[in-house]
Amino acid sequence: MTEVNIAGTLLKLLQGDIVEQEVEAIVNAANTGLWGGSGVDGAIHRAGGPAIAAECRRIREEQGGCPVGQAVITSGGFLKARYVIHTVGPIWHGGRKGEDELLASAYRSSLQLAKERGIKSLAFPSISTGAYRFPVGRAARIALATVKDFLAANPGIFTEVRFVLFSQEILNTYTRVLEEGF
Ligand code: ADP
Repeated sequence: MTEVNIAGTLLKLLQGDIVEQEVEAIVNAANTGLWGGSGVDGAIHRAGGPAIAAECRRIREEQGGCPVGQAVITSGGFLKARYVIHTVGPIWHGGRKGEDELLASAYRSSLQLAKERGIKSLAFPSISTGAYRFPVGRAARIALATVKDFLAANPGIFTEVRFVLFSQEILNTYTRVLEEGF
C-alpha cells in the first residue's frame, strides 16, 4: 500500500476488491444505461443487492441514464459503503476520440458529486481499464493527475481517497506512476 497526503486528504493506493471497502462512497465503472454489467459493475450490483438496480432504473427513467464522463449517485444497498457513485468512462478507440478528457471528466464528476453530498471518504476502481480497454499506464496518469488537481483545489475536502486496484499488476502501474510524479 502507498499513501501520500495531498492538501490534507490522504490518497491511498491498494490492491483489493472495491465492494469490501469501508468508505462512505465507492465509485462504480458503470455504462451509460446504468444496466449492471460485467467487471466491477457486476460485482457491485451482486454485493449491493437489488436496491441499487432499482435506483439506477429510476435514474434511467428520469434522465435516460448517465452520459460518458458524468456521474450519478445511489445508495449502497447491502454494501459497507453508504453510497455508490456511478460514473461512465470512455471506451478506448485508439486515443484520438477524446478518451483522455472523458476519463478525466469521469473522475472529476465523481469527485464533484461526492463534494456536493458532503461525502468524506471514497474509493475508485481503475475506470475504463477492463472491458473498455483503456491502456493502464495512460489511465493511471490521468486518474492520479485529475484527483491530485481536485484535491489541491479543494484543500481538506475529504479525509481519504483510495484507488482499489484489482490486480497486483495494476497496483504496480499506479504506484510507479505516482512515484514518478505523473
Ligand atoms: P470498464 O468497463 O470501465 O473497463 P471494468 O469493470 O471492465 O470496467 O474494469 C475496470 C477495472 O476494474 C479493471 O481494472 C478491473 O480489473 C477492475 N475490477 C473488476 N472487478 C473489480 C472489483 N471487484 N474491485 C475493484 N476493481 C475491480
